[in-house]
Amino acid sequence: MTAAPKPQPGIMDIELYVGGTSKVDGVDDILKLSSNENPHGAPESARAAAAHAAQAMHLYPSTDHAGLRAAIAEVHGLDPDRVICGVGSDEIIHMLCQAYAGPGDEVLHTEYAFLMYAISARGAGATPVQVAETARTVDVDKLLAGVTNATRLVFIANPANPTGTFMGGQDVVRLADGLPDGCLLVLDGAYAEYVPDFDGGLGLATTRDNVFVTRTFSKMYGLGGLRIGWGYGPQAIIDVLNRIRGPFNLSNVALAAAEAAMRDRDFAAHCLADNTEQRARLRAGLADLGLPSDASEANFVLARFADEDEARDADTFLKSQGVIVRHPANYGLPHCLRMTVGDGAGTTRLLDALTAWRARGT
Ligand SMILES: *Cc1c(COP(=O)(O)O)cnc(C)c1O
Repeated sequence: MTAAPKPQPGIMDIELYVGGTSKVDGVDDILKLSSNENPHGAPESARAAAAHAAQAMHLYPSTDHAGLRAAIAEVHGLDPDRVICGVGSDEIIHMLCQAYAGPGDEVLHTEYAFLMYAISARGAGATPVQVAETARTVDVDKLLAGVTNATRLVFIANPANPTGTFMGGQDVVRLADGLPDGCLLVLDGAYAEYVPDFDGGLGLATTRDNVFVTRTFSKMYGLGGLRIGWGYGPQAIIDVLNRIRGPFNLSNVALAAAEAAMRDRDFAAHCLADNTEQRARLRAGLADLGLPSDASEANFVLARFADEDEARDADTFLKSQGVIVRHPANYGLPHCLRMTVGDGAGTTRLLDALTAWRARGT
């Protein structure tokens, strides 16, 4: 008998990521509001570009993503050489951990942070360290107090998921200023597009050597199924990440769709306006039902219930009506339900279902 192969340390400590549910047995007409997907789907421009690119699926894709990087750089006013594209921002997060954190190193994230930070940190053999938030909002002082000599990476999503809360520019600068040499601040801007006139930290990442930004095509651009994200930061970091990036990490279909979506500014403007309107409607409707929520800057709202039982009861009732939201118990928020902002009809259906749930009593 030979000994069974053993994975690297840390890997067996990873709990499997559980995505948003998309099905309910026995219910056909589903409204999925559990994964912060775009209720308007993908832009027509991106679907057409993907169909066209699919004709050449026998050919290897570009390794340098020059076309997509140019589109991103033009729209955001960036140096295309400092943009890197990945299989979702998940891959960028993963590459950052692999390149900058290992055994003995710490990766900081906050109390309700996106679970991928800890997963990728463990995958690299590093130790994820969780820092408390204040009223479901990132707290710079607590974060800075959590930094040690071993801290290599600090991950912040702004707006944050699953809370939807937002950290102002001055706090972000204070955080970047307060980190010791050799420690990188990663600003995850998966929902930055939903905040009017917000650059997601791209300006900071342009001028500082310790700030890096990740972005995605999965939310506002409606391309979650194609898996495309990007990162932007100091040239030295881009050069490091490119060494470990798979040369053909993005398919030609994904590249074409993302480039078209990025250049489709009308689609983005429409999605922003509609999300802002429906999010306000949703929050007001929830408040009328006695369900408070923090001001959200993203495309979802985190509704707070009396306790875990009530949240579970509402979740079960919504599912029975075909409305799927997210119960973020694994994020330490068992008394909450995270609801993606739908289109007008979706918001009406969600609020009607919650009204029926309240009327029914528990
Ligand atoms: C959805 C989300 C992402 C996007 O991940 P992709 O891999 O690009 O689909 C990244 N960060 C946060 C906080 C998210 O909620």
